[in-house]
Amino acid sequence: MLTAQTKSGTIFSLGKEYKKETLVFIRKNEEFFCPACGERVSLKLGTQRINHFAHRSGTVCRDFYEGETLYHMEGKLQLYQWLEKQGIPAVLEYYDSVIKQRPDIVFLYGGNKYALEYQCSPISEEIFFKRTAAYYQQNYIPLWIMGSKRLKAKRSNVISLSNFDYFFFRKTKDNHLILPSYCPDEKQFKILSSVYPYSIKNAIANITHHSIQKTGIEEILAPKINHYLSFAKWSMELEKFTMNWSLHPSPDLNRFLREIYHHNLNLYLLPPEIGLPVGHSLFIQTPSIIWQTYLYLDVLQDKTPKDLIDLREVERHYNKRLMKNEIINRNIPQLPSEKPFHSVKEYFFQLERLGILMKKSETVFQLQTKIFIPKSNREKEERRNEFCQKNKFILAKK
Ligand SMILES: [Zn+2]
Repeated sequence: MLTAQTKSGTIFSLGKEYKKETLVFIRKNEEFFCPACGERVSLKLGTQRINHFAHRSGTVCRDFYEGETLYHMEGKLQLYQWLEKQGIPAVLEYYDSVIKQRPDIVFLYGGNKYALEYQCSPISEEIFFKRTAAYYQQNYIPLWIMGSKRLKAKRSNVISLSNFDYFFFRKTKDNHLILPSYCPDEKQFKILSSVYPYSIKNAIANITHHSIQKTGIEEILAPKINHYLSFAKWSMELEKFTMNWSLHPSPDLNRFLREIYHHNLNLYLLPPEIGLPVGHSLFIQTPSIIWQTYLYLDVLQDKTPKDLIDLREVERHYNKRLMKNEIINRNIPQLPSEKPFHSVKEYFFQLERLGILMKKSETVFQLQTKIFIPKSNREKEERRNEFCQKNKFILAKK
């Protein structure tokens, strides 16, 4: 940790830049205590390592703070000094006695009080949700920033994200979903935006790099996002994923494959309209190709042109699939009021733009043309090329 209490009870913070000699002198003449557990702590000074306070071995609190790596402490310190340089009132390791939580940094900005948590190691889902909820309850805006070393880019614009990683998503003022991360070694923020998951683990995403010296807080809270999703790239990654995945089917996938087979569908011969990228699909953990196939079976397959489709009916089917765990939603702590069904609506609006559906009222769509199901690989390829050609502008998503 970077702060400790002195004998007189004042907080001593290593967030201020001290000279080595000053710290050596202070260490000789002062005693330090942990503000959380009250135990004596020692001030560790090093040339290689970052200056910090450490519990003595055997204390109960030890695991809690000593689990803190140098990477984490470096990052926290740099973020704190970054806020200070911008003239933003900030407190390092502020202990809030009401919620008994100690966010890495509390700062005031734009009339709001933020609780910044710089998180490098995984914590349980329960703790993540509990801490976030407590911040909301005490009128903090939680700002979780991930340690960038967690971000694993597989290929250009393809990133692996665990369920835990998804907890870091937040919404910008103009409704973009972003995942902010920071790397103290490279001294830069890495921000993920335009995230379109095509499998449980992998997503197509845009990653931007922002050097801490050249970036202000506003660019982290509301970065300018200017990214177009390439549908060709999406299709290619989805195809690859489907191939690999069907070679090692999980029980869930087997259940899915049995059901579609029963309806004369084949995983390799799905039409391009099934498995489309939609903006909020990260709120559904189940891959888009699966939940969109289920929607097709539940509400589209048996309809003929001019038939009406009510979104409330669609939602009932969706909820039934949820109950049977055939579709799994993803809860994101910093976006508690977000409804996963929103992505289903987005999918319907996309089908409307593609001419499959026509909107009749707030909740009712009318089928215009049936989705064509290819019967052979050749038919599938022809159909896909035609589809991409015809809908180039609709599919080039912002
Ligand atoms: Zn302690």
